[in-house]
Amino acid sequence: MARILLLALIFWVLTGPWLGKRFGRKAMLTLSVRMAVIFGGYIVVLGITFVSPGQMFGGSSLIQWMSIGIMGAAVGTYFRWLDRLRSKAEPEDTQPIEQTAAALSEFELQRYARHIVLREIGGLGQKNLSKARVLVIGAGGLGSPALQYLAAAGVGTIGIIDDDTVDLTNLQRQIIHTDDRTGMDKVRSAQLTLEALNPHVDVRPYKRRFTEDIALDLVSEYDVILDGSDNFDTRYLVNRMAVASKKPLVSGALSQWEGQLSVFDPAHGTPCYACIFPDPPSPGLAPSCAAAGVLGPLPGVIGSMMAVETVKLICDAGQPLHNELLIYDALWGETRKINLKRRPDCQVCGSTGLSQTSTISSSSD
Ligand SMILES: [Zn+2]
Repeated sequence: MARILLLALIFWVLTGPWLGKRFGRKAMLTLSVRMAVIFGGYIVVLGITFVSPGQMFGGSSLIQWMSIGIMGAAVGTYFRWLDRLRSKAEPEDTQPIEQTAAALSEFELQRYARHIVLREIGGLGQKNLSKARVLVIGAGGLGSPALQYLAAAGVGTIGIIDDDTVDLTNLQRQIIHTDDRTGMDKVRSAQLTLEALNPHVDVRPYKRRFTEDIALDLVSEYDVILDGSDNFDTRYLVNRMAVASKKPLVSGALSQWEGQLSVFDPAHGTPCYACIFPDPPSPGLAPSCAAAGVLGPLPGVIGSMMAVETVKLICDAGQPLHNELLIYDALWGETRKINLKRRPDCQVCGSTGLSQTSTISSSSD
């Protein structure tokens, strides 16, 4: 019996991956062929032992051979179970890194190395980032971190629209601008910072207000829209244009110590901004940052989260903040989420469904 088992073991080792790899193959024989040969041999041995017990194979009995068979089946089942567990733990798309890493230059592989090793981004995600076009409305508090992280992350084309100039009062939070650029156009200042950060990004500055006449054309040129504007007219216009062009809108807002964030994408079943805030607040209820004040690092938190959501959308990683409003209360260090639903009578996305309003509604810069 020992000799037969040894022969089977030698066959298993010689035809498996151990020797196969030396000949540039995964294995000399596939797993199913190897198992079929072993199983066939076992059946033959069992048959012979049954017909003439004790005559061959060192006198081993049928019972002994059957015990070996049961043990073999148990070990096989255990390894199959392990294999299944392993394949469940592994992501379905493990091949993109190898496949698309070749499409990235040596320089890109180095520059974005920490992205490429992330399972959810990998070479494919990084390639998608380099092809992506993102429009950021407002180069202020929210735009500052969002723009810088998007450029650093390798987003290929970044549009910035803002009609304002850098003011001394901006510098407490709008960290894309510097002291010596006071009086400079914000889009120009932002462009200088982004190009210094990552010269391989195509930065497109639009020094003007985001107005109805150009809004739809502009939004249509981009894949993802980020709203970091500081007034409700712009917010509602950005939302209408994003809905009309079926583009996801990453929307952030701030007030004093509190920030909020959501991803509106009615083309994928989520509410739009107007579903949640159907009407602008009455004057005085949502004072501007200039009137109410805003904590300097707060737009850093929310703007960075906007960049996170944008990268997730582009790389199809995780779950975007769809149907949810994330609220961050900096004063108490608390975050919470409110579930959002489409409003059946929404004037903008005309969806059907239940509605839910939130008491929170704020502007930002
Ligand atoms: Zn809506």
